Amino acid sequence: MLLRELGEFGFINRISEKFKSIVIPETTGIGDDCAIIRKDENFDYVVTTDMLVENIHFIRSKITPFELGYKTLAVNLSDVAAMGGNPFGSFLSVAIPADIELEYLDDFIAGYKHLSEKHNVTLLGGDTTRSEKHIALNVTVIGIIEKNRARLRSMAKEGDIICVTGFLGDSDGGLKILLENLPISENEKYLIKRHNNPVPYVNEGIWLASQNGVNAMIDVSDGITSDLKHILNASQKSAVIEIDNLPISQQLEAVYKKYGFDVIKSATSGGEDYKLILTIDKNRFSKIAEDYKTKFGNELFEIGTVKKGNIGEICWLKQGEKFNGLHEGFNHFRCS
Ligand code: ADP
Ligand code: MG
Repeated sequence: MLLRELGEFGFINRISEKFKSIVIPETTGIGDDCAIIRKDENFDYVVTTDMLVENIHFIRSKITPFELGYKTLAVNLSDVAAMGGNPFGSFLSVAIPADIELEYLDDFIAGYKHLSEKHNVTLLGGDTTRSEKHIALNVTVIGIIEKNRARLRSMAKEGDIICVTGFLGDSDGGLKILLENLPISENEKYLIKRHNNPVPYVNEGIWLASQNGVNAMIDVSDGITSDLKHILNASQKSAVIEIDNLPISQQLEAVYKKYGFDVIKSATSGGEDYKLILTIDKNRFSKIAEDYKTKFGNELFEIGTVKKGNIGEICWLKQGEKFNGLHEGFNHFRCS
């Protein structure tokens, strides 16, 4: 059997099954954005690791080294944010070809440090090795969280409001512009920036995890269809999402209109937006959204509701009508 047939998540399950026999008390391992490890009677550590490989996750000529350094850390901070943790340290491992310019590496580290400073995350270690041709980057971030405050993918409850912390699809739009070598003006510049410089919702995640009524959280790394499904599967729930409520930037609208691209497709299945998706108790939603807006100046965009039954299923609505299979047009059946 080929890895391709098993898929990424099949492979992860296969690994995790083999380690179920080794149990460490007060430790939660594979299956969420971070592992949770006991620190003391009041606090836990949250730990995550993520890898970026040249030509898989980035094309060297399409991202500056400063941005690459920033992004390498950002995608990891985003996983800590998705738990509600407060990051304090990182480990950086690099595999690099020997003929790379030192200036390139200095700029890479400057970008990495820029974001580290913003969140007061220090570099605790790492590893450096030579590669033949391509750059591979691996970061581990460690954070701290008050015991029982971490928000797991499994915590969604029936009736919860599903919301996201920002625009969806921008990063996919930026990637499209880069891959198709489209001419770059202001809107395109914005989208490319969203792709190369995703902003992790660290302070927002910490605050949200301090609010009773915020239940499940995850960050959007693979698109909301895939990432919301992780919440639904882990929580044994389904969801109804209103497509017209998905937050879309005017820049994405404008660029996609110009080229006839599918906004909904990028907003639902485009990767690397690194917004948070969370589910909030419906009775507490208005107050939390209001306080969030006061504190961060941004909206928590309400996009749908958690339902029971049909575990893992997302029912997409457009103005109340069931949207059949997202890209196949409408039909007139309603969501169950
Ligand atoms: P995220 O997108 O939040 O980084 P992933 O989808 O990459 O999460 O991973 C899902 C879960 O599987 C995480 O808990 C992660 O630690 C775990 N995981 C991924 N790859 C491996 C691996 N090779 N070995 C062990 N655990 C893994
Ligand atoms: Mg994640």
